[in-house]
Amino acid sequence: MNIHEYQGKEVLKQYGVAVPEGKVAFTVDEAVEAAKELGTSVVVVKAQIHAGGRGKAGGVKVAKSLDEVRQYASEILGKTLVTHQTGPEGKEVKRLLIEQGCDIKKEYYVGVVVDRATGRVVMMASEEGGTEIEEVAEHSPEKIIKEVIDPAVGLLPFQAQRLAYAINIPKELVRKAVQFMTALYAAFVDKDCSIAEINPLVVTGDGNVMALDAKLNFDSNALFRHKDILALRDLEEEDAKEIEASKYDLSYIALDGNIGCMVNGAGLAMATMDIIKHYGGDPANFLDVGGGATKEKVTEAFKILLSDANVKGIFVNIFGGIMRCDVIAEGVVAAARELGLERPLVVRLEGTNVELGKKILNESGLNLVAADSMSDGAQKIVALVK
Ligand code: ADP
Ligand code: MG
Repeated sequence: MNIHEYQGKEVLKQYGVAVPEGKVAFTVDEAVEAAKELGTSVVVVKAQIHAGGRGKAGGVKVAKSLDEVRQYASEILGKTLVTHQTGPEGKEVKRLLIEQGCDIKKEYYVGVVVDRATGRVVMMASEEGGTEIEEVAEHSPEKIIKEVIDPAVGLLPFQAQRLAYAINIPKELVRKAVQFMTALYAAFVDKDCSIAEINPLVVTGDGNVMALDAKLNFDSNALFRHKDILALRDLEEEDAKEIEASKYDLSYIALDGNIGCMVNGAGLAMATMDIIKHYGGDPANFLDVGGGATKEKVTEAFKILLSDANVKGIFVNIFGGIMRCDVIAEGVVAAARELGLERPLVVRLEGTNVELGKKILNESGLNLVAADSMSDGAQKIVALVK
């Protein structure tokens, strides 16, 4: 789960990570009021969306007077920002962070991630802050320094020090940088983050080390033990279809393609996406209806697929084990009856109650194409949506 920058900064502050003073604003008047309360001569008006790259897209503006705050706030609020992380459709700005202007001497990068290769938490740092770290990784990977952290002892002071020196933090500020990294690591572990990225971390004119941006992602499987974090969820930033799916406890992830997939089991769902790609198609989603799904759940799942205008065809690929093929067939038929089905549908059923499932589908009058195997089904649906 993702949260906004201003929320991330509040979380980090609890662990002693230095951040500028700031306030969230939902309206232009609130933005001006917040700037007044901050009382600094320079404030920054920052769009709050769940995506980075806001600066380049015009979503971060430095205001030198309350009039400028009013002007920038009215320009940015309600605007659809298109950044390299939003996709071409962009994201509408509904919240602003009004923050103290900071006297930046130099920008750096610090990020904490779970590294699959080592199976450990890794802290990365770079002198090339403020820019897209993906570009640094591609063009000058030597400028990203990494420390692998042993979970038994956590980030050790010498590791943080080594990072600080390696990215050329001024000597007199290394101690503060070490404190910063230690606090960041503590927040990451304590809150079960999957990413904690500070880009930029800055050294200021008055000798401080601060987070000017904060991107925190949380492991959704750990959210049950972080009610405070769960309360920060902003449903307006999430895909409506994914929210609908989570109500029915379906594992659904929206993707960019045009073939809707309904599958049982995460492994088979992954394999189904792979095989669609293999035959030149593009999956519109990942969907695992799970093992013990009811007819109602299957119906909802199928409705979510049908509600997606990008979906030009649907591939149902079920290996009935605990999940019975007849339940799937009933759900598909019920949803198709309710919403109508003009798009091509390819069904591959195998396993428990397969004969009954096929019978239900065949007698439903639905216009569907039966597939003998997974690759047969994938080829058929790819051909049908072309
Ligand atoms: P994004 O990564 O989405 O572009 P950032 O929060 O990193 O957004 O802001 C972009 C840039 O704006 C920063 O690299 C920094 O130079 C500047 N900036 C952000 N916040 C402040 C601030 N409080 N004071 C001064 N400059 C800021
Ligand atoms: Mg940034």
